[in-house]
Amino acid sequence: MPDMFPGPLGMSLAGEALRRGLWHLALKDIRDHGIGRHRAVDDTPAGGGPGMVIRADVLAAALDSSIAPEDPRPRLLMSPRGRRFTQAEARRLAAGPGVILVCGRFEGIDERVIEARGLEEVSIGDYVLSGGEPAAQVVLDAVIRLIPGVMGGAGSDLEESHEQGLLEYPHYTRPRAWEGRTIPEILLSGNHAEIARWRRAEAERITRERRPDLPGPDRAAKKPGRDA
Ligand code: SAH
Repeated sequence: MPDMFPGPLGMSLAGEALRRGLWHLALKDIRDHGIGRHRAVDDTPAGGGPGMVIRADVLAAALDSSIAPEDPRPRLLMSPRGRRFTQAEARRLAAGPGVILVCGRFEGIDERVIEARGLEEVSIGDYVLSGGEPAAQVVLDAVIRLIPGVMGGAGSDLEESHEQGLLEYPHYTRPRAWEGRTIPEILLSGNHAEIARWRRAEAERITRERRPDLPGPDRAAKKPGRDA
């Protein structure tokens, strides 16, 4: 559904970067390779059951018409069966030559084209969307903001949640008192070493409480390729 793009990626940070030429988007409608007068891209599932399945020949024709066999870009198929998309993968993609994202629809895609064209299945989480386009936009958003020049403040992204196996510390800004709640004194002390220590401790506390499954700072540091 090419009309869904750039969608939210045409606005704000990603949209500004798009206009500045820091990334670009080439859309492909697989219906251009559909079969017959109605340009059908799907058919009923072999073996029966609900829904429709995207045809291997149609998707392969769409891929082959726009991608050379030696194209170095990873080919990711958006799929709830896939490996979980992570910040580590966003970093790898941002450093790479680009990415080809295939968006599914209907019940799914003929398994043979996934195998024959080397599509890697990637999931954005354990829930089912009606199509791959919003998932592709999630992947692209996470990658685009890591492209050099897209975000101001060099290095600010390294402190963020999931960058060091930790969730981020809490943020505060003016006013100093709001509805009887004050900003933690330490943040107003001007003591940068103390502030850094406090933030680190808060990040560790929040990670322990909310996401004990995350690697945490020590293990993340020892195993940088953990999500590879
Ligand atoms: N029958 C399939 C789900 C099809 S959902 C199954 O049970 O696995 C239709 C399309 O939405 C999929 O082909 C995929 O491209 C996209 N999609 C749905 N959930 C997704 C998720 N969590 N991550 C990435 N893509 C997803």
